[in-house]
Amino acid sequence: MNEKYLLETFGHRIVHDSGFPLRSKLKVAIKNGEWNWPPARSDALVVIQSQLFEVELGDTDLAIWNAKHGQYTCADAWDKLREVHPAVGWWELVWFPSSIPKHSFFMWLVFQNALVTKERMCGWGYTGCTLCLLCRGAQENREHFFVRCRFSSRIWTNIMFECSIPNAPLDWDAIEAWGLKVLRGRGVRATLGRLCLGSTVYNIWKQRNALLHNSSPKTEESLMDCIRWEVRSRLVANGQFKDLNHTLVFRWKLHSSF
Ligand SMILES: [Zn+2]
Repeated sequence: MNEKYLLETFGHRIVHDSGFPLRSKLKVAIKNGEWNWPPARSDALVVIQSQLFEVELGDTDLAIWNAKHGQYTCADAWDKLREVHPAVGWWELVWFPSSIPKHSFFMWLVFQNALVTKERMCGWGYTGCTLCLLCRGAQENREHFFVRCRFSSRIWTNIMFECSIPNAPLDWDAIEAWGLKVLRGRGVRATLGRLCLGSTVYNIWKQRNALLHNSSPKTEESLMDCIRWEVRSRLVANGQFKDLNHTLVFRWKLHSSF
């Protein structure tokens, strides 16, 4: 405590009124272990001094973490530092116990509409072609990509069919509400659906980037194989597939992992 500048704590006016030099530390007001303030020359100093005289001076200073439970934790530190915003509903579709980190990060960007699509690039002065590279049928933006695009919608519909999840929306704006209703919870089928959602969105964007940079885009079938492989590997790694029904176990070729 006595190593802290008075200026930092009380500001210029109070330090000036105290009669101490501007860069003084609190220890100048302590002598032989007791408070030693000069006579107060302002009302604020009277208040400060009267409160400080109630503080017992020990031999050493002690750093105290002013947290909920009196003990330092990283969570408390983060809570003190961060700006708190209302929780978003979609987080349950992005982060869940078996989620694949690279997909979660990408989905976090997508839900916040933070992808650098051609439509967004136009706002930054981009003057090239803004058509979707996957179908060349509409402007490239999130709503088209996921999943109004003919290419994306075929993949999304097929993958959801393989999960035995009917009526998956073909509209990104509807996916959050639908997902929170159908893909919610700890059940293995909900996990399968969420893994497929993340993998599908991620791989469609990867396909778009491959087309953009002329680096070997996949065929529709091999892209779906990639999604199947990612999802299957995750289910096997976590041993979570055992509660799936036989149809899904065989459809996702999980039977060989029993
Ligand atoms: Zn398209």
